[in-house]
Amino acid sequence: MATLRFQALQSASGRKPVIVEELDRKSKIFGSNVFNDKAMRLFLTGEAYKAVQSAVQHGTKIDRKIAEHIAMGMKEWALSKNVTHYTHWFQPLTGTTAEKHDAFFETSMDGSDPVEKFGGTQLVQQEPDASSFPNGGIRNTFEARGYTAWDPTSPAFIFGTTLCIPTVFVSYTGEALDNKTPLLRALTAIDAAATDVAKYFDKNVKKITPTLGWEQEYFLVDAALASSRPDLMATGRTLLGHTSAKGQQLDDHYFGSIPTRVLQYMRDLENQCMLLGIPVKTRHNEVAPNQFELAPIFEETNLAVDHNSLLMDVMQKVAERHDFKVLFHEKPFKGVNGSGKHNNWSLATDTGINLLSPGKTPMSNLQFLTFFINTIKAVHDNEELVRASIASASNDHRLGANEAPPAIISVFIGQQLTKVLEELEGVSKGKLSPEEKTDLKLNVVGKIPDLLLDNTDRNRTSPFAFTGNKFEFRAVGSTANCAVSMTTLNTIVAKQLKDFKAEVDALIEKKDMKKDDAIFNVLREYIKGTKAILFEGDGYSEAWEKEAKKRGLSNHKTTPEALKAKVSKKAIALFEEMGVMNHIEVESRYEIELEEYTKKIQIEGRVLGDIARNHVVPTAIKYQNTLIDNVRGLKEIFGKDFEVIAKEQIKMIKDISGHIEGINSKIDAMIEARKKANLLTDAEKQAAAYCNEVKPFFEEIRYHSDKLELLVDDEMWTLTKYRELLFTK
Ligand code: ADP
Ligand code: MG
Repeated sequence: MATLRFQALQSASGRKPVIVEELDRKSKIFGSNVFNDKAMRLFLTGEAYKAVQSAVQHGTKIDRKIAEHIAMGMKEWALSKNVTHYTHWFQPLTGTTAEKHDAFFETSMDGSDPVEKFGGTQLVQQEPDASSFPNGGIRNTFEARGYTAWDPTSPAFIFGTTLCIPTVFVSYTGEALDNKTPLLRALTAIDAAATDVAKYFDKNVKKITPTLGWEQEYFLVDAALASSRPDLMATGRTLLGHTSAKGQQLDDHYFGSIPTRVLQYMRDLENQCMLLGIPVKTRHNEVAPNQFELAPIFEETNLAVDHNSLLMDVMQKVAERHDFKVLFHEKPFKGVNGSGKHNNWSLATDTGINLLSPGKTPMSNLQFLTFFINTIKAVHDNEELVRASIASASNDHRLGANEAPPAIISVFIGQQLTKVLEELEGVSKGKLSPEEKTDLKLNVVGKIPDLLLDNTDRNRTSPFAFTGNKFEFRAVGSTANCAVSMTTLNTIVAKQLKDFKAEVDALIEKKDMKKDDAIFNVLREYIKGTKAILFEGDGYSEAWEKEAKKRGLSNHKTTPEALKAKVSKKAIALFEEMGVMNHIEVESRYEIELEEYTKKIQIEGRVLGDIARNHVVPTAIKYQNTLIDNVRGLKEIFGKDFEVIAKEQIKMIKDISGHIEGINSKIDAMIEARKKANLLTDAEKQAAAYCNEVKPFFEEIRYHSDKLELLVDDEMWTLTKYRELLFTK
């Protein structure tokens, strides 16, 4: 009987593209499964419509009676689209999304009066049986009481035959049990702080909205091939596998033509995204074989985060129709590029200005520089927290493990802006003379071109790059829920802007400075104090690691090390001051992330032990037996001369034994290390033990297994190989 590998190869090689019917023009179908403005106008009373609008724009509360009306309209809309169920859709701390479906259908006890029902209460609040979501000790599991509450700022949508209502997930004591709640609080904080600062430049600004445009990288692997790899299925990455002779050396995949099967998948996916109101725009091949990217038009951050979470779910579901499996893992394959999720971030005013876009006048450019420099300072002052916000077991394979970007957080700004900062650094202390001001306006601030030519950062090694009219946080992992990094980024910038405002106001009041003079004075000091974070060179290089160390920048290569910054006194004070998380919420997240790290490494260790011992070793022994038979035969024929004739075979027999010994002894040692780690009760110590005592065996076991892969007869090898996973189209 053919092994799973060969069965899978046969299925995969026979696949035809699943041709996807084109729906109507994108602009026509966009958002048709979303309870958006258009649907609301159609299905809500004027009063209900206004209440939702005001909740979205000003964060006002919606009272119960109005909620009843909204629910009624929402239900009618959903029923008109053949929807049968509704769910509160939320983002627990597992990093994914969760849902519990209830039917609209109700009937009386004797089965009479069947009817579809959905009221204000069901819209506003639901109690999922939440006892098995991670809560890091906030909630005793036997109390099991958390509830979800409607987030009107992210519109309800229909997926399949279910009405999904975006919600926050909180405990009865008010603590956030999800990723969305802290994000919403961070967005409120930055709105307040940034609006205050923007008012220096334009009194009409009333609201600032942080924007997010994520870029999702992923691999597509044939579903049958993926299922033939227990490691891919259980951990999302290959734990074994010799790199294929051809990898990405030829750079022939990047931006190359998209294979037909993949293109059909992408079209199908894009159609689904259109219906769901996810404004996807870009699709292309990425650097590694079978690696792709999808990016939307940027949106308000909360909505963008929801859309990314929803997208990841939709991607996997659509993939099933096309016999693909989507790999979101940051490093599914050794030796080829991994995947990230660049988070493009900026701030938009309600007057239609992108605050990180250089303008046409000196005044608008001073505004731009203010937000630009404050962001740099925020990252400078909180680089460890920024690093912590993207830490995960899977992202460790990118950051700091010979892949861009490095684990050192730095900011790329380009030559032109570097020069501008140098000039601003020379601004006189105190009040500026009229001549100096004119000079600044004409020759420095006024000269920033609105198109910054060098801000594409071609080498792409910077974890946080200014790219012309936005910052691009590139170190975010492809599996991440963007809420975590966006909560951190918006919080640190909010705090920074709040401090900036206080400093500028103090100079105006106490030193009798003009507003511009005060701003120039504060910015000058920021520029002087934050140089350590600016870096334009090659982030891969060893020289940079040395230089960064000299500059005092952190370089935490592992998650347990990196996460510590989350619970530093400074971080807790920051989150509390900005009203984003209290110390219980911060500490519980820390604990959950440590536990998640431990579990991930634990699972990888188990799966690796299993496949190495139960797939690789038996196969190697089988092949070794054929060699032994061969040597025996040669001995029969050639008598005492056989040793010369069978020299290579004998060497191979010995080599195989050596590698089997290597695998078995390392697995034994790894199991011992796991047992010891499992005895630890402190989450921090346990994660460190898994990181430093268990994980190092992975590479050693892999080394021997990958050597065996090269030795053993291809026909016998049971694990689907890299070339098959990566090059089957
Ligand atoms: P690339 O990094 O691939 O060169 P693009 O310039 O196409 O990318 O932009 C990447 C992402 O940045 C897109 O999702 C885009 O919507 C987003 N983006 C553009 N402007 C902004 C902005 N002002 N705020 C947030 N994201 C933005
Ligand atoms: Mg990008």
